[in-house]
Order: sequence, then C-alpha cells, then structure tokens
Amino acid sequence: MSSSALPAVPPSVLPSVPPPAPSSSPHGALSAARILERIEALARLSEQPDGLTRVYLSAEHARANALVGDWMREAGLAVRVDAVGNLIGRREGERPGLPCLMLGSHLDSVRNAGRYDGMLGVITAIECVQALGAQALPFAIEVIGFADEEGVRFQATMLGSRAVAGTFDPQLLDLADARGVSMRDALRAFGLDPEQVADAARRRDEVLAYVEYHIEQGPVLEAERLPVGVVTAINGQQRFRIELEGMAGHSGTVPMALRRDALAAAAECVLAAEAAAHAVPDAVATVGQISVAPGATNVIPGRAVLSLDVRSPRDADRERVARTIVDACTAIGARRNVRVSATQTHVLDSCACAPWLRQQLAQAITADGHRVRELPSGAGHDAMALVGLTDVAMLFLRCAKGISHHPAEAIEAEDAATGARVLLNFIQRFRPQGGAH
Ligand SMILES: [Zn+2]
Repeated sequence: MSSSALPAVPPSVLPSVPPPAPSSSPHGALSAARILERIEALARLSEQPDGLTRVYLSAEHARANALVGDWMREAGLAVRVDAVGNLIGRREGERPGLPCLMLGSHLDSVRNAGRYDGMLGVITAIECVQALGAQALPFAIEVIGFADEEGVRFQATMLGSRAVAGTFDPQLLDLADARGVSMRDALRAFGLDPEQVADAARRRDEVLAYVEYHIEQGPVLEAERLPVGVVTAINGQQRFRIELEGMAGHSGTVPMALRRDALAAAAECVLAAEAAAHAVPDAVATVGQISVAPGATNVIPGRAVLSLDVRSPRDADRERVARTIVDACTAIGARRNVRVSATQTHVLDSCACAPWLRQQLAQAITADGHRVRELPSGAGHDAMALVGLTDVAMLFLRCAKGISHHPAEAIEAEDAATGARVLLNFIQRFRPQGGAH
C-alpha cells in the first residue's frame, strides 16, 4: 500500500475557487447547502469554461484532488493520493488500524457532463464524516474519490477502482489518449510512478465493505415519488455487432418479391430485440446505431450494420435474451434471403449487491421515514470493480427525469439532505458482517 504524498500541483493549476469558508452549520449537523455548494465548486474544475469535462490525470483532476482533499481535511480525514491517482481520506475507528467501511464514488466525468454523477457520492460521504465529529466507531472509514470511472481519456473504464481491487492490468499503461499520450507518461506528469500502480491495491482484511451513494441516472425513483432506493445488482451487459448482407439494387426496377433489402430486415431485427427484452423482467435491449449502405434515396439497401446492447441484473436472463435476439435475427435473415452474422464485442457479468448491506441500507431508509424501493442499476459503477475485493452495495438518489451524462442532470436540495441523512444513519448503525446484531 502506498502512502505517497499528494503529487505536487503546479501553481497554475491550483483551484481557482476560494478556499472553503468555515462551516456555518453547528458542529455535527449535515448541511445540504454545503453539499450543493461544493458540487458547484467542483463543477467549475473543467477542461472547458462552459460545461463540465474532467478526465483522468488532467490538470483539472489534480485541482479536484486538491480541493476535495481540503474538504476531507476539514472533516477530520487524513488525506493521501494513492499510486493510481485516487484521492483517499481516512478516519480511524476506536483505535488506529481497524479495517474500514469504504465510501465514495468517482471524481472524473464524461464530456459535457452533469455535476452529480460521481461527485455527489464523494462530497456527501465527506459531509457525513464531518457530522460524525468525535463519535467513536468500531471501524475506520475511508472516503475515496476514484480517479477514473468513466474511461473517457484512455477508453478503458474504472481504472481507479480496478487498481484498488488489485485487478489493474499493467498492459493498460500502454493505452494512449487522443493526443498520443500514454497512460504511463500521463501518470508521470501527474507526479505518480507508473511502475508502482500495483501499490494502490488493498488487502481484503483492510476493507469491511464498499458502499457507493450515486444518482439513479434513471427515472424509476422519480416515477414512484421516492427520494432514495437500494440497488439490488448492477446490470451485466453484452454487446454485439450484427451485420446484414442483402443485395443492393435499383429502387425503381427490382420487384418487391425479388428484393433482399438489408435495412428492411434490420428494422425487423430492431423490433425483435425490443420484444425479446420486453418479455423478461428487468432486462433491456437497445439498438443504438444503424448504418446503411449504399445509402441513397433510389437504391435498395444492400448492407446494414446494427449495434446491440443487452443488459440485465441476472446473467442467465441476459444471456437468454441475447440468444433469443440473435436467433430471431438469423431467422429474419433466412426468411428474407439476407445473410446475418452476429459478433459479440463486449461482455461484463452483473455485480450483485450484498444482501447484508442492502438490509442495513433499507433499515436506514425506513428510519428516515421512506418506503424501501429496491431496483437494479442499468449503468456501470466503481462497485463493479470493487466486488472482487469486498462486499458492495449502492444507495441511489432520485434525479430529475432520470437525465444523466448531460448538463441538465439535476437533483432537489431536499433530496440531497435526505440522501445525506440516510447515508449518515447507515454509517452510524453499520455492523460488519458477522458482527453483533
Ligand atoms: Zn457515475
């Protein structure tokens, strides 16, 4: 485990926002206003002035680590940056060196992002630690701001959490960004040693659980008028490239009965995917891209290529839906004399949230006076990487219209307060698995 100091931040990239003002709220109280102010301040650390883009190992990433590190210290956390660039704040338990309850989320963003995805979980966890004050707990707490979850810069996701879980493949260091800068060189420029990335890995006996608080990024909680929900599992996903090869021809001269129209076949495939996912609870299937050739008004499409993305919280369901869709596409092609080939391009198994943690989150929600709604996560999260290290769980917060990865991402101040209360309640009641009940 690395205890490297914060990497040197050149003065030119120091935060442009003023240092945090002393808390105006009474010691021990949660402040939703402070959570939202900090999220606004963090959103200003962006590649571009209008909108939020903050990618791994960028100057903005260094500034975010510095700023959030200040807030962590203010909350009484001991702060360090690990070997892959994750920001970690630690609060000891009743005695030093106890295993920790790990809280947090990511500090990087997609391009032109919303400001709550990731950041809300880190900032709220810091707020909860601040509210704990001097209260002694029988476990340590670590708040992590993961360095990379979205994978924008190097096209590989969850680099920060994979390093913590000990599953960071050193070959990833050779990946280059759009400007040709390798991850190896980017780590050096950030003040880190690429040869030491493995030092970010944690031992199983150091961590009791990882609990991530995150906006839902979907519309379920809003539709049910609930502020928070408990995640059952993070959906596994499977992606395919489906190619349809028919015959191009003159749109005026080829009779309908003799056509081998690749796009008309593709249209049936899209509907087959929709129907197959509809038939299985919690499964979703999406054709998000379609390209057609030759692509002229007066030419019958001879070739079409579809993307297919299938997800489910249950791997067996996901595989069944994917197989049903591929079989249906093949049958559609056979009937229309269009050659169909499906290639799987990506597969990631689902990540189950631990029942004992889900139960404790549910108790914290009930104690705050809300009905407990359990729901799967359709989007990926750092918890997926950490499940290799420890038991994981997630608390979701309602967000406006389910919009995410977009500047219109929004939450209600009242919900920010509710989420913080529930998380604090969870921390205060937290019992490690096998602990006294
Ligand atoms: Zn996120």
